Amino acid sequence: MNESTPKQLNSPLDPDVMYQALEEKIRNCGHPMDLGRIRAAYDMAVLAHSGQKRKDGSPYVTHCVAAADISVDLGLDEDSIIAALLHDVIEDTPLTHADIAKQFGSAVADIVEGVTKLTRVQYTSKEEEQMENLRKMLMAMAKDIRVILIKLADRMHNMRTMAYQTPEKQRAKSLETMEVYAPIAHRLGMQQAKWELEDLSLQYLDPAGYKDITDWLSARMPELESFMSAMEQKIQARLKAERIDASIFCRIKHVYSIYRKMYSQKLPLNGIFDLCAFRVIVDSIPDCYNVLGVIHDMFKPVPGRFKDYISTPKPNMYQSLHTTVIGTEGIPFEVQIRTWEMHRTAEYGVAAHWKYKMGDGAGAVRQGDEDKFAWVRRLLESQQESDASDFFHDLKIDMFADEVFVFSPKGDVINLPAGATPIDFAYNIHSDVGNRMVGAKVNGRIVTFDYTLQNGDIVEIRTSKSAPGPSRDWLNIVKSGSARTKIKQWFKKEKREENVIRGREMLEDELKHNELALEDVLIDEITAPILKRLSFAHVDDLYAAIGYGGVTASRVANRMRDELKALNAEKKSVLDKVSAAAERREEKAKKEGKAVHGILVEGLDNCLVKFSRCCTPVPGDSIIGFITRGQGVSIHRTDCPNYLQRSHDPESEGRWIHVGWAREITDVYVTSITIASKDRTGLVMDIASALNSLNAKVRSLSAREISGLALTVVSLEVHDLSELRVIMNKLSSIPSVTSVTRNGN
Ligand code: MN
Repeated sequence: MNESTPKQLNSPLDPDVMYQALEEKIRNCGHPMDLGRIRAAYDMAVLAHSGQKRKDGSPYVTHCVAAADISVDLGLDEDSIIAALLHDVIEDTPLTHADIAKQFGSAVADIVEGVTKLTRVQYTSKEEEQMENLRKMLMAMAKDIRVILIKLADRMHNMRTMAYQTPEKQRAKSLETMEVYAPIAHRLGMQQAKWELEDLSLQYLDPAGYKDITDWLSARMPELESFMSAMEQKIQARLKAERIDASIFCRIKHVYSIYRKMYSQKLPLNGIFDLCAFRVIVDSIPDCYNVLGVIHDMFKPVPGRFKDYISTPKPNMYQSLHTTVIGTEGIPFEVQIRTWEMHRTAEYGVAAHWKYKMGDGAGAVRQGDEDKFAWVRRLLESQQESDASDFFHDLKIDMFADEVFVFSPKGDVINLPAGATPIDFAYNIHSDVGNRMVGAKVNGRIVTFDYTLQNGDIVEIRTSKSAPGPSRDWLNIVKSGSARTKIKQWFKKEKREENVIRGREMLEDELKHNELALEDVLIDEITAPILKRLSFAHVDDLYAAIGYGGVTASRVANRMRDELKALNAEKKSVLDKVSAAAERREEKAKKEGKAVHGILVEGLDNCLVKFSRCCTPVPGDSIIGFITRGQGVSIHRTDCPNYLQRSHDPESEGRWIHVGWAREITDVYVTSITIASKDRTGLVMDIASALNSLNAKVRSLSAREISGLALTVVSLEVHDLSELRVIMNKLSSIPSVTSVTRNGN
């Protein structure tokens, strides 16, 4: 039996007769349904479409009944059949979603509305790449899979009755069916529907090619039929002997599959051998493999043609064993082996879910059942066509959530990120369209620029040569990166003057936050490295870039602040080095013979210097000079009582001057110390031997006794303070010595 032969139309049709047949079919479909409710839908459709006629002269409602009839064949549920009956009322009659919802519930109304949306999608582009977008769009638009299935039923009936349309419409609808609806049926695993849609389309797309094949097939039919019948009997007899309970069906492959083979393999018609396909349906998976063994035992398999879709199902859930074998007289034929369950899935695809798996309840899809269809969506989203020989392009619909598909007025499908606006659309068409955009219309109505595009929207952009160009706000509205880039490019190019001013202001503001002024940082040392790094020739380019948003002001300001910091640090280090060098020069000058008795007098070279007798300073002491009248500078220790007394004397004002010790001193200095101790015998001897042990050059030593206390004054030569301190320490350690002090204190 040939399963793909289209049903013939008898016109004119009586809707009531057709409806009776539909009711009969529903009664026999194995699922109890509320016929009263379905009848009410029919009545509503009859009333709504009254007066409308189809091209063949039949009442319009016959189409609705036919679509419902196909929906029953597809195994759809009660709500779907009601929706199929009403599928054109929103589009073609005054009835609304609310009217349907009131009588049949919002689920039915939603389905009808979904079908209406798909119907409104206009296909005018014929480009192959557009077709894939169209398929994606339809799948994305149909939030409920039943919407797609009813749309398929609708299209199936329209294709079956296409004979009454004009040749132009026949071709257009057939192409659409071939490229959009048949692949969708395939993708949903509905082989039967796919074959029928393909053959119906081919009939109008290549009438001559279609006729060649059907003529050739009918000429060979007696031969093919006797061959098939002989093979069927042979296989059945053998399976019986093997005690395998199997049903065998055979068919001649559908016209389009032969046509495709002719073109894809460039074969003449009589070069195509495997026209016959056998299907063996059994009860269990082990039986499938048993049958395969039997077939391969009976006939010689064609190498490379065995495929195990049971262990590895196709993405659309299809499962079967496929093999091609050589029959008697060398005629090859294909054998598909599957279980009944696999068969139902293959025939009805996702619809099998309703038909056989949803139980025998009311058949209605109840509230909350939507979740049960989530798996269908996931399937659609995850599937990847593994059969590379498949004629059709993959129906990639894995990006539903992220994409939106809209039409240009010419019918091109434009694919944009979800949430895209008319601005995204305009820039997708061309930069000029975006830049000159002054308004947008969606489905004929004016919309705001931030309107969120919906699947299937027809978008029209109004442009003007005197358009002011994009607004900066658009950058916050657009969703696509390419639109954003193009808008920025426009600002970069078209608004340089404005950008320079704006950018400069923005940078100034930003610098202010860093407590900097533009003048602080507008020096070559700071700007040059920044311009070089960003590849700008001039600082105006930098302002312009900030102005149009190519570079952020904060980034530049931070960079400038860092450069300034680095520059200041460098300056300080240079200054430090300069002052260090100056100090070294000064010290060097001090060394070079300007000193008298190891004393340097500020501003006076080679002046007469003498050391005061009151405090006898030695190198290392902090000293100060006093300009005497006619006797040069007398040097005092800064802790000298004379100095401390006279430093505030108004008479001596201006006569105290800074003096210092030269670095290298060769002179010896005379100073005097007083040793206080309890008076005892041998004290002077101890002092003298201590001084001797240190090689101290003693100029004079005198001792006197005041009420039991011995005071010994020693005058001696030392090189500096540290030598003196060693000596004083030594003297302090002499028994009974209570203090050693320098004179003048
Ligand atoms: Mn319709």
